[in-house]
Amino acid sequence: MYRTGIDLSLGKHIYKKHGRRRKELVEKLRKKGITDERILKAIAEIPRHIMVDTALEKRAYEDTALPIGCGQTISQPYTVAAQTSLLELKEGEKVLEIGTGSGYQAAILCHMGADVYSVERHDTLYQKARQMLQDLGFKARLKLGDGTRGWSAYAPYDAIVVTAGAPVVPDDLIQQLDIGGRLVVPVGDRETQKMVRITRIAEERFEEEQLRDFKFVPLIGEKGWS
Ligand code: SAH
Repeated sequence: MYRTGIDLSLGKHIYKKHGRRRKELVEKLRKKGITDERILKAIAEIPRHIMVDTALEKRAYEDTALPIGCGQTISQPYTVAAQTSLLELKEGEKVLEIGTGSGYQAAILCHMGADVYSVERHDTLYQKARQMLQDLGFKARLKLGDGTRGWSAYAPYDAIVVTAGAPVVPDDLIQQLDIGGRLVVPVGDRETQKMVRITRIAEERFEEEQLRDFKFVPLIGEKGWS
């Protein structure tokens, strides 16, 4: 049985360990312009160090991306915070994430009270993230597969976040947005991507905003890179 919220079955030390480092990270993110207190609180509480190799544990609260195996990375905390801010989430909204990776972004979204769905294409990462989220007591629904097609079974979503760089905005994701829904996706070449936010303002009316540059691992799949 899972429940939403911090589960202490992992042991309180997991949340106490590196608490000072997490606070310093939060202060850094504030200085970089992150203002949403719910996001900052989640970052102050979610143990990022359990999502990386023990050899990298000390670096878990640096504001950088770190390797998680399968040639993938756990996103930089600033990037996670920036993408989450752009989603403009309200409590209880349904969010689809493409690229579960370590499960860090998913854990942040769960902590904020979102109803989280997430797709990952690497089985090893999918299994690990599933176990980790379960251990933390979060009730996210995860799927192994190609997220460039979205996850139609649970559509429509209030928000969709893609945590890998896409060559174009995948059309299926736009179609799986609810009216008023926001899609946040980095789009560009394999080197750099512009953060794009698409809002579905009516059934067939969309608003697109282009924001600053980021650097993500590639989104690989039918509607992504080959
Ligand atoms: N949100 C993650 C970031 C992981 S990096 C975190 O917080 O750690 C991006 C992830 O997207 C990688 O794990 C990669 O395997 C995954 N990915 C790439 N293309 C994908 C696709 N088409 N469908 C699902 N996942 C994909």
